Amino acid sequence: MEFIRRLTKVLRGENYYVIIGCGRLGATLAEQLEAAGKETLIIDKNQSAFDKLPDTYGGMTLTGDASELAVLKRVGLESAEGVIVVTNNDNMNAMIAQLVRELQPGARPRIIARLYEPGREVVYRELGITSICPSELSAREISKFLGEDEPW
Ligand code: AMP
Repeated sequence: MEFIRRLTKVLRGENYYVIIGCGRLGATLAEQLEAAGKETLIIDKNQSAFDKLPDTYGGMTLTGDASELAVLKRVGLESAEGVIVVTNNDNMNAMIAQLVRELQPGARPRIIARLYEPGREVVYRELGITSICPSELSAREISKFLGEDEPW
């Protein structure tokens, strides 16, 4: 009941972000967005995953499998500014991102999904999903650190 009351209040405002997957990246993003004054909701299928959030985290959590429509329909995606999909599985992320987009025919929200396998970026792009690949980002940062003018 408290969850529904809180979500209803949040949906009246702006600045609402949904993060899917409370691993290290998801937990860090939720913490940082919330600290920056955004309303955040983080979903994970394992309740114990929320142990990664700091005690100071004041956003919402929801235990559920985000590949299930019933779960996604509960979180007011139509009011979200952004949805960040960071489970530990590329196929799962692509599927969830597509479901989110289908539930969201309008301009909002921006959807971004993590992609472990760099070669699959093109597949995501064809599906119209913006992706971010940690290994490519790391390689680029390392090349910068080593003083390369152009990233490898
Ligand atoms: P990590 O590998 O540390 O980034 O963690 C990824 C997180 O995504 C884990 O906490 C998983 O429980 C979570 N996860 C994986 N699949 C789903 C799913 N379908 N719905 C919600 N959370 C998921």
